[in-house]
Amino acid sequence: MITDGEVNALLNYNARQGVAISLYLNGDTRNKDSRDIEIKDLIKNARKDLSNLNIDRACLQSAEENLEHIRDSVLADNSPSKYKAIAVFSNSAENFHRIYRLPIHVKSRLVIDTTFYVRPLVVLLEEHSRIGVVLIDSRHARFFEVYVGEILEHIDFSTAAKSSKTPLLETFMKREKRLAQKKEEEVRRHFSLVADLLKTHFLKGHFDRLIIGAKKPLGDHFARALYPKLHKDLIGISEIDIHAKEGEILAMVLSIEKEYELHEENKLLRRIMNETEKDGYAVRGLKRVIEAAQDYSLQTLAVADDFTQPGFVCSACGMPHFSADVPEGKGKCVSCGEQLIEVSDVVDQVVDAAASQNAIVRHVQGTDLIASLENIAAIIKFRKGEFVKMEEAVETES
Ligand SMILES: [Zn+2]
Repeated sequence: MITDGEVNALLNYNARQGVAISLYLNGDTRNKDSRDIEIKDLIKNARKDLSNLNIDRACLQSAEENLEHIRDSVLADNSPSKYKAIAVFSNSAENFHRIYRLPIHVKSRLVIDTTFYVRPLVVLLEEHSRIGVVLIDSRHARFFEVYVGEILEHIDFSTAAKSSKTPLLETFMKREKRLAQKKEEEVRRHFSLVADLLKTHFLKGHFDRLIIGAKKPLGDHFARALYPKLHKDLIGISEIDIHAKEGEILAMVLSIEKEYELHEENKLLRRIMNETEKDGYAVRGLKRVIEAAQDYSLQTLAVADDFTQPGFVCSACGMPHFSADVPEGKGKCVSCGEQLIEVSDVVDQVVDAAASQNAIVRHVQGTDLIASLENIAAIIKFRKGEFVKMEEAVETES
């Protein structure tokens, strides 16, 4: 499971020796051959780029060996059906190697630099919630963390959740009613203890969404015992057995997560729809979205998962362009004035631009709503001309 610490290590990485190689490879789950061809091509082109870089002989040799090593380990991997893409970050000169198997598709590419190309990974991670799963009955509890398709049990949680069992004092509890009271008191104490433990995990940042697994009506009772701030992050209660296996728990979580994401997606798309209809703070269609990117105005970008479209991108700053005909002069970047190049898919560049503007990116899994928004749409921060109007108003006032 990818931890925040690992992501930070990648973000802050700066090679003192050797070069940093970042590889994203889309694994077509049904076709190992096409993936193998793709990795061979990527490595071949990377070796060409490498020979054009101004680096010393020893460094070049070690980078070439590393590329071969990455290629061979990808070719040797016969389990691509378990994931949709991989990300590799490697610098053999500093003995740094990380490989992540990813549950969604990314665009294949290989980048050689002194730092790692982490942005696609960060975009992907930000689209996923870290989900805490608590399984609870009247005496025990277990806790799991689920992130980007992986599950991890926190073993210490179930030990800590064992409340010190005070024996029932028969002498004082002769009547059945008193016994029942005592039992209820124990469950209540157990719930409070588990709710406290969850609060601690939540405050440590171990999860930002929560699912409860418990028999009815225990789950609903426990939900009421939660730390109040956690209520809004509770996305589901499932009747799963406390002894369930990890695979079963993961499947339950993924199905609740999918439903939740779908709900959130529809909420966002409807909001965009409303805003565009009243010419408010949203735009739809590739042309308008690219204009918003050029205005540094993207706040939340929604894009159909399989949407691609040719276009242009700046060779220097990477700014996407819908067409090469711009007021600044044909083929010039509107942002920095450098030369534009034609690309077969500009949508990916829009996602990159959005991420660099700290916008939230949501890949939408084919709903009718995103199709009616021309496959790409965004909430924007500023409407064109609003500040000019504001200043004019101030000037006429004074
Ligand atoms: Zn530019």
